[in-house]
Amino acid sequence: MQNCCSWTTLYKGFFAIVCALLVVEYFFGSTFETRKWETYLLNTTRIPTSVKVTGQHSFHKPSSIMNNSTTAYLVPINSTKTSTFQHQNGENVANTLFRLSKMISNANRTTNSPSSHSNSNPILDLRESVEKNNSSELPPCPDPPPNLQGRIKVRTKNAPLPRILESRLSWLKLGGHWSPTTCKPPNKVAIVVPYRCRGEHLLLFLQHMHPFLKRQLLDYTIFVVEQNGSQVFNRAMLMNIGFKEALKLDNYDCFIFHDVDLLPEDDRNLYTCPNQPRHMSVAIDTFRYKLPYQFIFGGVGAISTKHFTQLNGFSNSFWGWGGEDDDFSNRIRFHKLHISRYPIFIARYTMLSHKRDKPNPKRYDILSSGMKKFDTDGLNSLKYSVVTLRQNLLYTWVLVDIKPPS
Ligand code: UDP
Ligand code: MN
Repeated sequence: MQNCCSWTTLYKGFFAIVCALLVVEYFFGSTFETRKWETYLLNTTRIPTSVKVTGQHSFHKPSSIMNNSTTAYLVPINSTKTSTFQHQNGENVANTLFRLSKMISNANRTTNSPSSHSNSNPILDLRESVEKNNSSELPPCPDPPPNLQGRIKVRTKNAPLPRILESRLSWLKLGGHWSPTTCKPPNKVAIVVPYRCRGEHLLLFLQHMHPFLKRQLLDYTIFVVEQNGSQVFNRAMLMNIGFKEALKLDNYDCFIFHDVDLLPEDDRNLYTCPNQPRHMSVAIDTFRYKLPYQFIFGGVGAISTKHFTQLNGFSNSFWGWGGEDDDFSNRIRFHKLHISRYPIFIARYTMLSHKRDKPNPKRYDILSSGMKKFDTDGLNSLKYSVVTLRQNLLYTWVLVDIKPPS
């Protein structure tokens, strides 16, 4: 009996400890995780002064040297050694990549005649796969895509570690890119995410979006455009920058501007560009799945390259929270375009929780005077400098400096 009692006490004690551990994990687990991957992101994605070249990395070639006769991807010639390519004084990473790519491309031209390409040449392999994807002989992708699931589960907690996500999404091409190899999608889509200091959201977003977009059989690339420094945020400017930088890399004909904290709940919400600009985030959980007002174009929006250029992009004048999306909506109407939407039961989104930013008190004034500036404030007046441009597996990262007016 004595024995039995002490065993029972032992079991109870053990059970209590397990419960306590579970409670701690539930309430504080994501906080600990947050710290872990915030550190990881900082450590792994920033290369401000030099570009490391190893056998495992390849760089997408900057557009300025992209033409039909050279390869679309860059793979270091030496696939085993690690070498470091130093920046020249005052040079940004985009330029460095450009120089680096030119160097490698020249070297390839002299060392690899077309006939000397062997099966194991990674440059040739990549070039072939790119050509296959670009082939106009492929049949159009089925509409609607056959593997859609309709309503899907949205995970809002326990963001995965980047390296775990990378191994789960190993089917991705560098830069956060994928396209089907058996059919030709209707658009070449760039998804532009304005970003700063939302590491957990970004990982949850990538975890959700890549499989979602793949099921939609899209040719897509995710661009994360991050504002450097701690000055007031300018969401619209980051999206204009994403537009310009993406077009330097490839000929996207469709852009989706996407808040990092909005996750679509239904994969019938297709990330393509129809004839008119499409407001995608019609029904958000935090707005009780109702459209707040008719002309809203905030959250997630799709627009063709042609229309975005015609509208002169977003205004660059909205520093801080609010106004830029309504100004964009005004631009759409001013140019006699109209906002299209999917039905409210399809265009549903979950917003990841965050603190509300302080609204910009001047937003209404800027908005009301904005009409006169559509032609002069936008893509054609955009000023920025690229600090880093890097193609990770999960996304193309563009870190930029922008200056608020003094
Ligand atoms: N954002 C960011 N960091 C910030 C502020 C905004 O990354 O400090 C980006 C992010 O993509 C976010 C979007 O801008 O989803 C819109 O900002 P926020 O979510 O604060 O505004 P809401 O639309 O929820 O009012
Ligand atoms: Mn938000």
